[in-house]
Amino acid sequence: MTIIGGGHNGLVAACYLAKNGLKTLVLERREVVGGGAVTEEIHPGFRVSALDHVAGPFSAQVAADLNLSQFGLEMIVPQARVLALSADGGSVCIYNDVARTVSEIEKVSGKDAKSYPEFVNSFARIGRVLAPLISMTPPSIDEPTAADLWHLGKVGLAFRGLGKKDEYRLLRWGPMAVADLVSEWFDTELLRAVVAARGIYGAFAGPWSAGTSLGLLWQAAQDGSALGSASCAKGGMGALSTALANAAKAAGAEIRTRAGVSTIVGAEGDSPKVVLENGEEIESRVVVSNADPRTTFLDLVDPIDLDPNFLSKMRNYRAPGAAAKINLALSGLPEFRGVNGSDPKSKLGGRIHIGPEIDYLERAFDASKYGEFSTEPYLDITIPSIGDPSLAPDGKHVMSIHVQFAPYKLNGDWRTRRDEFGKNVIGLLENYAPGLRELILAQQVITPLDLEQTYGLSGGHIHHGEQSLDQFFTFRPLIGWAQYRTPLKRLYLCGAGTHPGGGLTGLPGSNAAREIARDFKARKV
Ligand SMILES: Cc1cc2nc3c(=O)[nH]c(=O)nc-3n(C[C@H](O)[C@H](O)[C@H](O)COP(=O)(O)OP(=O)(O)OC[C@H]3O[C@@H](n4cnc5c(N)ncnc54)[C@H](O)[C@@H]3O)c2cc1C
Repeated sequence: MTIIGGGHNGLVAACYLAKNGLKTLVLERREVVGGGAVTEEIHPGFRVSALDHVAGPFSAQVAADLNLSQFGLEMIVPQARVLALSADGGSVCIYNDVARTVSEIEKVSGKDAKSYPEFVNSFARIGRVLAPLISMTPPSIDEPTAADLWHLGKVGLAFRGLGKKDEYRLLRWGPMAVADLVSEWFDTELLRAVVAARGIYGAFAGPWSAGTSLGLLWQAAQDGSALGSASCAKGGMGALSTALANAAKAAGAEIRTRAGVSTIVGAEGDSPKVVLENGEEIESRVVVSNADPRTTFLDLVDPIDLDPNFLSKMRNYRAPGAAAKINLALSGLPEFRGVNGSDPKSKLGGRIHIGPEIDYLERAFDASKYGEFSTEPYLDITIPSIGDPSLAPDGKHVMSIHVQFAPYKLNGDWRTRRDEFGKNVIGLLENYAPGLRELILAQQVITPLDLEQTYGLSGGHIHHGEQSLDQFFTFRPLIGWAQYRTPLKRLYLCGAGTHPGGGLTGLPGSNAAREIARDFKARKV
């Protein structure tokens, strides 16, 4: 069994498959495993999660199955999920604790404070109904098996148990624009914006785009909250990948880095092999690709091996990158306007949201439609050294800034516009954290082009493809091919381009491994 790519999903799949007694080899093109989950030193003594800065959250079931704590994984769960800021010093902090959040919201709106607990409870109830979907294999549309029907039936029963109000909400929200959804719950613009942001995270969409509420529902399915987690690994996200790699090796898998695959050959027959960039050929019974679907089918497989209809659908698979990353090494903790009091660190320990209004977020998206990065982007920031001082020298910090919108298809060239882009983001942040610029010791700017060229994400898309209704569940990556199998009998997919999609959850990898092991057992491969 050869797994192309040592991203966290490739490693999760390797762990499960090796535990099943299958001889497993992981081939990673970079010098490190982890894909999006890597820690990099950006300045001597300053380490940061280069790409992903919070976990999806990572599936508790997968962590337990693979005993990841024994392999050194320690997760940090800050009390604050997200602190939303406006440039005039206004703020709303959303904590894991509902009562604490209500008293925060009361400072800006008594009405919104009253609505918040029901908002939380409704998403928690709906999340519980949707949760089984994320760890199941999407059913076959044409020939659903008895198991498919059984699983769906259970979800259907749970749905009926929701009660009329939540049933109606669930059916109605999926296709809705997230801007509409939040305006039904809250009056405060800053609160609306921070909630809506989850619906457009990583997407080529603005809050007024149809179907963006889906992001909130899917988030709730993962951890019961619409708001997105703030949990991260001690040592940065690379520590999660190290734990997974060690678990995979302990289970018997072999991992090779600097082993980029250039071609997959013969996967339609009985003796597939991969050809490495250095010309080496490796035969195996089955090939599993953790690379995104476009890379897998449009770059690694010879088009002659694929049905033209499948190929044309794959060419239409949407993966327009819209995000970039800036990481900073800082000589001290920045002071944010309006965030003071006795313990500002507790508010700054989760994610920090910049994007104070729905229209601001929409305008930030508008720019990318016309090939420009936004001059006032939506930012999702963490300062992980607050909760994990091992990441920076004493008293110093690292800051991780997720930037939207930054389109892969830019007017001009990302290589020549990188500095302009970085300066613009820091300039914007100065309005929220005056004096930030003086604290910067070093900065790393990762453009969508870097996401493609360095990190192997086709089109720079952070989730291996849009997570919209047309590329979701039984449609991910394509209708008819959502069960981790592909038109080539001995080629499987296991990455974020498969159900349940992007984010550090480990679920595409574990779901794919289950299907592959099943086919082995049934001697289908
Ligand atoms: C900037 C950015 C920020 C993000 N922030 C978050 C976040 O905060 N929280 C979150 O949950 N998710 C976040 N994500 C999304 C998350 O990174 C992905 O959903 C996740 O990494 C997908 O994991 P994966 O294992 O499926 O794929 P990847 O992590 O992309 O791994 C795929 C691996 O395959 C390798 N590969 C590709 N082609 C080949 C080849 N030909 N030969 C050998 N190896 C190959 C790649 O080098 C890579 O290591 C972010 C992503 C980006 C880019």
